[in-house]
Amino acid sequence: MPDGGEPVVVEAARAKLNLDLLVTARRPDGRHELDSLVLFCDLADRVELRPAEGLTLTVEGPTAEGVPNDGGNLVLRAARALAEAAGVAPRAAIRLVKEIPVAAGLGGGSSDAAATLRGLRRLWGLAIDDERLRDIGLSLGADLPVCLYGRPARMRGIGERLDPVRGLPDLPLLLVNPGRPLATGPVFRALSGPFRAAARPPLSPGPSLVRFAVWLAESRNDLEPPARRLEPEIGRVLEELNALSGCLLARMSGSGATCFGIFGDRGELETAALLLRRKHPHWWIRPTFARGGH
Ligand code: ATP
Repeated sequence: MPDGGEPVVVEAARAKLNLDLLVTARRPDGRHELDSLVLFCDLADRVELRPAEGLTLTVEGPTAEGVPNDGGNLVLRAARALAEAAGVAPRAAIRLVKEIPVAAGLGGGSSDAAATLRGLRRLWGLAIDDERLRDIGLSLGADLPVCLYGRPARMRGIGERLDPVRGLPDLPLLLVNPGRPLATGPVFRALSGPFRAAARPPLSPGPSLVRFAVWLAESRNDLEPPARRLEPEIGRVLEELNALSGCLLARMSGSGATCFGIFGDRGELETAALLLRRKHPHWWIRPTFARGGH
């Protein structure tokens, strides 16, 4: 079948947001154990899959610059890992449309890889269950299991322990990136202990946005201090978010540099985006929405 034409399978790869991120331990092998509340935004990359003779990848879209389109791309690594696990030939023409900023703490690569695993399972008609898919995902990265799950979750261990989180409010969010990529490895290396277990107070069900923000403010992102040392512009972004009218809480996501502000409603969110864009035309600024757990 030719590579062109309508895609047969299309998957959204949503941006992952760490509402908090506690680094609870460093393992003897150097890996870190985390405890993080994760949810997913409307902002998403798009993975299109078509049958083909071989395996190819094209990368397009507003944030495609700097994304590898060779074996370094997690999408191709995911396709090969799935084909190998299933004992089939890796045959697909993949088109990736990037909307999520790269090396930004929004898990773009992991979410693309998870969308590829889900989509190719359908395209290739594989009898691989979710648990097996999660194991294949975990071999590619710590964020893969939660990206495969795709709904609000508490993620623990090195990403392999997931518990669904239900009853969070829908969140109007302003995502802001100062336009400087920040690699994850150096942020973890700049992190010094002591590492503490998470102590989140219980959250009573069905909280309002304001109550949820007050509850979340008690928690933290342990990667924020080392990331701010490596990229001082993060401090500026947080200051600007906190100064915006209607911002209930501002924090960094993942290993940065993207920060988010939670707003009281969509109107306040749109106004805040306009004001901040005027002041910082070179920052990447995106109002979005994240669905709480229903
Ligand atoms: P995480 O929070 O999971 O560490 P991130 O959001 O900080 O991820 P990504 O956007 O996933 O970072 O990109 C990290 C690096 O991965 C990039 O610098 C890029 O070279 C590489 N990469 C591989 N595949 C992809 C992909 N599909 N999209 C973006 N980057 C990719």
